[in-house]
Amino acid sequence: MKESALSANDERILGALGAAERPLSAYDILDRARSGTLKAPVQVYRSLAKLQREGLVHRIEALNAFVRCCRSHHGGRPGFVVCRDCKSVREFEDERLAAIAESAAGEGFAIEAVSVEVFGRCAACRHAGLAS
Ligand SMILES: [Zn+2]
Ligand SMILES: [Zn+2]
Repeated sequence: MKESALSANDERILGALGAAERPLSAYDILDRARSGTLKAPVQVYRSLAKLQREGLVHRIEALNAFVRCCRSHHGGRPGFVVCRDCKSVREFEDERLAAIAESAAGEGFAIEAVSVEVFGRCAACRHAGLAS
């Protein structure tokens, strides 16, 4: 855990993401974490920005939704495997992602973010599809 303290609202949002079985949009999060002091979307967005800076939460760009980080990265860049059917997300880390990004960007380009999202169908959904 890093320096800046989490507020009660941050903790509620983290809890909602931790309990979710799929990525949640900011509005999904508000539905699940709403409380007397947490009731406006802007509060959720502000908290999510902080939690992302802390590396506790990731945004899945293609889904415009958020997941709780599954572990610490030790400086690596996380990638995500996303099932199109059940929307489950598995986080992975591979140091090659940073090298690929750097070689793709080329000299003089300042990389701000690298987002690797792999889409397909998970084993459970594939098996369910074969059975029906
Ligand atoms: Zn992570
Ligand atoms: Zn699936």
